[in-house]
Amino acid sequence: MRKGVIMKTSYRTHTCGELRLINVGQEVKLIGWVKSVRTHGGVVFIDLRDRYGVTQIVTNDSFFREITKESVISVIGTVKERTSKNPNLPTGDIEVHAKKISILSKAHKIPLDLSEETTSSDDVRLKYRYLDLRRNIMQKNIILRHKIVKYIRDFLNDKAFLEIETPILSKSTPEGARDYLVPSRKFPGKFYALPQSPQQYKQLLMIAGLDRYFQIARCFRDEDLRADRQPEFTQLDLEMSFVNQDNVLSLFEELMIYVFAKLGIKLKTPFLRLSCKEALERFGTDKPDLRFGLQITDVTDVFKKSSFRVFVDEINSGGVVKCINFKFARLSNKQIKKLEELVKKKGAKGLAYLKYDNEVSGSLSKFWNEISDDLEEKIPVDRGDVLFFVADKWKTACESLGQLRLALFELVKETPELKKAYEKHKFIEEGFKFLWVVDFPLFSWSEEEQRFVSEHHPFTMPSQDFVDILKDSAKRKEWTNKLDKVMSQSYDLVLNGFELASGSIRIHDSELQKAIFSILGLSDEDISAKFGHMIEAFKYGCPPHGGIALGLDRLVAIVAQADSIREVIAFPKNKNAFGPLESTPSKVSEQQLKELHLKPDTKMND
Ligand code: ASP
Repeated sequence: MRKGVIMKTSYRTHTCGELRLINVGQEVKLIGWVKSVRTHGGVVFIDLRDRYGVTQIVTNDSFFREITKESVISVIGTVKERTSKNPNLPTGDIEVHAKKISILSKAHKIPLDLSEETTSSDDVRLKYRYLDLRRNIMQKNIILRHKIVKYIRDFLNDKAFLEIETPILSKSTPEGARDYLVPSRKFPGKFYALPQSPQQYKQLLMIAGLDRYFQIARCFRDEDLRADRQPEFTQLDLEMSFVNQDNVLSLFEELMIYVFAKLGIKLKTPFLRLSCKEALERFGTDKPDLRFGLQITDVTDVFKKSSFRVFVDEINSGGVVKCINFKFARLSNKQIKKLEELVKKKGAKGLAYLKYDNEVSGSLSKFWNEISDDLEEKIPVDRGDVLFFVADKWKTACESLGQLRLALFELVKETPELKKAYEKHKFIEEGFKFLWVVDFPLFSWSEEEQRFVSEHHPFTMPSQDFVDILKDSAKRKEWTNKLDKVMSQSYDLVLNGFELASGSIRIHDSELQKAIFSILGLSDEDISAKFGHMIEAFKYGCPPHGGIALGLDRLVAIVAQADSIREVIAFPKNKNAFGPLESTPSKVSEQQLKELHLKPDTKMND
């Protein structure tokens, strides 16, 4: 990207990343932060840093020996060619011999480790985020984020999309995660909700005839923060009128190709498309990481007539047997035990295995003679391989081996010889592996709530075959117990094992929308209180429409190879949704509570 022209001001003639040999002899004025100070036989060398780079300043004034790191100083001096050049620095051929140095802001001792591999804890980094952001890696991440957003805007602008803002003070709706609520001063006892996504607004914009919308939208969800989540995060949110699923997928795929090309990365196209069922069958998850080549194979037939009762009983009660071959693994029994525990955590009853060494050992070795021909026809084996088996209900068997597959991926990455062998056979690849996962069910059964819930969200259009069934109340009844068989027009974009984006074609018919809400357990009163505005809007000429939303933080984190989305957000919260920088959330005064018609809680004194 073009660096952009930096305006000359009375503070500087150049940035700290700008000077080269052609500037030798010029008098310049620089300003920046003191990155480091070194003294060599009476001469003081200061590395002066700003966003654009580092320039070496030289002075004979021993006063500056004591200058504290991270102070802001201004330097007037002459550019000279260095006698010993630094090839690692773009400005490494020159240095500035200072005539005058002024200290503009003297820094206190810095409370965190500003080196690239900082040793400071996450909370210390977040408390002093404005210092943490001075680190080169953090600046790179923030700049990368800016570029990605810019490329997205450029592309969508060229495709006639309009960038439209939607409200942050929105309305609480059931279905979805927990809302962040904002009490109203004007309406006692009433609350706004911060949007979990602009879903309803973007659909209303389609009804408004705006045809193509996007937004870099902040979303808020008050969920328990598992692993790498943030209470507020950013989506690229997008909606289009008069489109089918293929239209949305191709537009979005083109957008990804464009953004990555701008970043100098050529993506493999077209993106693979898998049905949700096939993704589970082959990879044990609906967000497969295609950088790892090992896949799951169904071996139910192999065991059907075997004398291994445990598997046969499972098959006879409707279960399946799935297998994954951990190539060249040479695992110890202890490692195998650990993997078994992992699979059990995912709900599988156990993990059987066959270890191919000089001889075949393992928990299934007793049955090896009877199954080996059929098995090895399906799964070619080499010495060193370990075959893992799970016999269970289809979903449990797939998902538990899916978890195992990911654990094996980690194991390969951290075992150098194995990694080498996997690279050689192309079982493991670097890069950005995108795929579309399609054909999701419309509903899934929630054990917790003992009812059907939307797999995506309640505005998702069912597959065409199910539209008439769901609209007709008599037919709907017949389907009550098999609603999980109803399919939807929704899709996910997966990148390196992360669900990067998801979307759907939407319902545009108020009758069908009402039917879906009632299947989800909402009474007529609930529907009109919570979603009446949507049902009504659908009555006034609603175009067929669909869209998608992409997790921007995640996209940037994957491109930046950061291990957490916090690394690509300027001011994130910590893992407990707490902001160590400004100490938020914080108490408010009783007066403020009173204005909001809220009573202090006893817990508030904690
Ligand atoms: N609003 C949806 C979400 O946040 C995405 C979409 O359907 O466009 O998951």
